[in-house]
Amino acid sequence: MKSVFFKSGLIAIGSALASLVIATATMAMIGGRVDGFALVLCVACPLLVAWPASGWTLYQGRRLRIAHRELSRAHAELAAAHRRLAEKAKLDEMTGMLNREAFFAAIDGTRRKSDRGALLIIDADHFKKINDNYGHLTGDDALLEISAAISRGVRSGDVLGRIGGEEFAAFLVGATPDEARRVAERIRHEVEMVRFRPDREATVPLTVSIGGTPCPQGATVPELMRAADRKLYEAKRSGRNRTVFAPVQAAA
Ligand code: GH3
Ligand code: MG
Ligand code: MG
Repeated sequence: MKSVFFKSGLIAIGSALASLVIATATMAMIGGRVDGFALVLCVACPLLVAWPASGWTLYQGRRLRIAHRELSRAHAELAAAHRRLAEKAKLDEMTGMLNREAFFAAIDGTRRKSDRGALLIIDADHFKKINDNYGHLTGDDALLEISAAISRGVRSGDVLGRIGGEEFAAFLVGATPDEARRVAERIRHEVEMVRFRPDREATVPLTVSIGGTPCPQGATVPELMRAADRKLYEAKRSGRNRTVFAPVQAAA
């Protein structure tokens, strides 16, 4: 506020001086002089008009600048909140893995850079029984144990998603068929090793069946999904708690 007062004061003094110079020059041209009451008017009028007018203008300008700064800050906060929300919308709330849509978008993006890799579909075995015997909340805990075990089994950089209720998927970036088989087996083993104890009496075995496919060049994501799904079905049919892999050309 002080600066507004002084700046408008300076403008008013400048206006009074300019008025004095103009009036003196004009009067000199017609052979007169500025003195007495005319001199007072020459100085007083610009002071009385320019001081409040420029003060008001400067004050409004200052308020506008402050409002603009606050608006920019609010805009930046909103953009950050929007980014956080967009990130959160990609995640499955329970496990923190990518949700189905985000998983497929992520593997689409990864495969645009390089075709090489393998897709695994991982399905919890007889999961309905856990819900039926211990309730849905305990079922949720079991799902968390399974998702943690899957995360331990993959390599850093692999893409993980929860693509259904008790169904997960992993895209093993750049993995050869042999590496993919090893990772799938490691996941299966990690889940099998979990000691899940919903109550003091019982340890409930957790297992998963895994269908996997390498990525032949040019195969689309739906083709890979179908190939991995077929192998998951075989794993289920042949007794569960196992991994079955498609041969290299199967998904093409
Ligand atoms: P299978 O070995 O053939 O896969 O048998 P399953 O019982 O696992 O398969 P089914 O498709 O018959 O049942 C899946 C069960 O998973 C039923 C459903 O209630 C449960 N489920 C799906 N999502 C959730 C979840 O978020 N929390 C819990 N607690 N259960 C879930
Ligand atoms: Mg299941
Ligand atoms: Mg299922």
